[in-house]
Amino acid sequence: MMNEPALNGMACTDRDRRDPLLRPGNSNCGGCGMSNLLQMLRRATGERELKMVVPACCAAVTGGSFPESVFGIPAIMSTFASAASVATGVAAVAQLNGEETRVICLAGDGGTYDIGMGTLSAAAERNEDILYICYDNEIYGNTGGQRSSATPAGAATTSTPRGKQETKKDIIGIMAAHRIPYAASISLAHIDDTLRKLQFALDARGFRFLHVLSPCPTGWKSEPAMGIELVRLAVRSGLFPVFEVFDGERYVINIEPEFSNEALMMYLSLQRRFRNTGVTEESLQPNIERYWNYLRLMSGRIVPAKRN
Ligand code: SF4
Repeated sequence: MMNEPALNGMACTDRDRRDPLLRPGNSNCGGCGMSNLLQMLRRATGERELKMVVPACCAAVTGGSFPESVFGIPAIMSTFASAASVATGVAAVAQLNGEETRVICLAGDGGTYDIGMGTLSAAAERNEDILYICYDNEIYGNTGGQRSSATPAGAATTSTPRGKQETKKDIIGIMAAHRIPYAASISLAHIDDTLRKLQFALDARGFRFLHVLSPCPTGWKSEPAMGIELVRLAVRSGLFPVFEVFDGERYVINIEPEFSNEALMMYLSLQRRFRNTGVTEESLQPNIERYWNYLRLMSGRIVPAKRN
């Protein structure tokens, strides 16, 4: 099993922003996927002018208390529910001032799938000029590890100690239904694809949505050094599809998984959140197959049967 650094061992190159987006001294747990994401975003953004809005999730805590900030760009903390609205205002002011600033909303799954869904949906429907990035750690990490609607079936959380019963919401499908210019899922284990998507989303205008599977050693009960490997196993097994959707209708599958049962078994066994909850490779397979059939249909790889 490989245990490699996220950026192929290169912590910093000439292409990286001089000031990191997440500075040393932050309070993220070791192995936090959000830290990896911000390092990759550092490379993707270069010296672009950015502003960031963060709801009351783990990224808000790691930012620290005013007047200190671990973020290398201007960042506003908002309530859970209002992040997309606050970002709308920041983007509108930047446009009025003729700035080239890109406004990024950085939110966890609780702030995206659940509490922030109202303002997120409204901003997407208005096609606001925002890049919304959801780092999905599949729990409410900042408030003690409760279930969210992003928590997968079978995962134990502090509010579902015997394992969650319901399956994970299809967040990309929901965002695509708003017919936004761009929505994509991102695997932190596939660096080229990740950087390409971050750069594309930064260059595009209108509402862009990125969904990042973000390992959380605290909530997943996994080893901090195994985060990137866990993402790779999720992709290999078909559990985390990597694809993009243009204008809500053109689906493109970026990585064809092996649908490896061994990878799925490893994914489950390396996280204590799946122990003693009854979840097995066999219990997950039908949902994986169902979702992949849907994706193949949407991407045109299966032509639906014609009715007579
Ligand atoms: S609880 Fe999870 S998401 Fe939050 S900082 Fe720690 S590892 Fe990151």
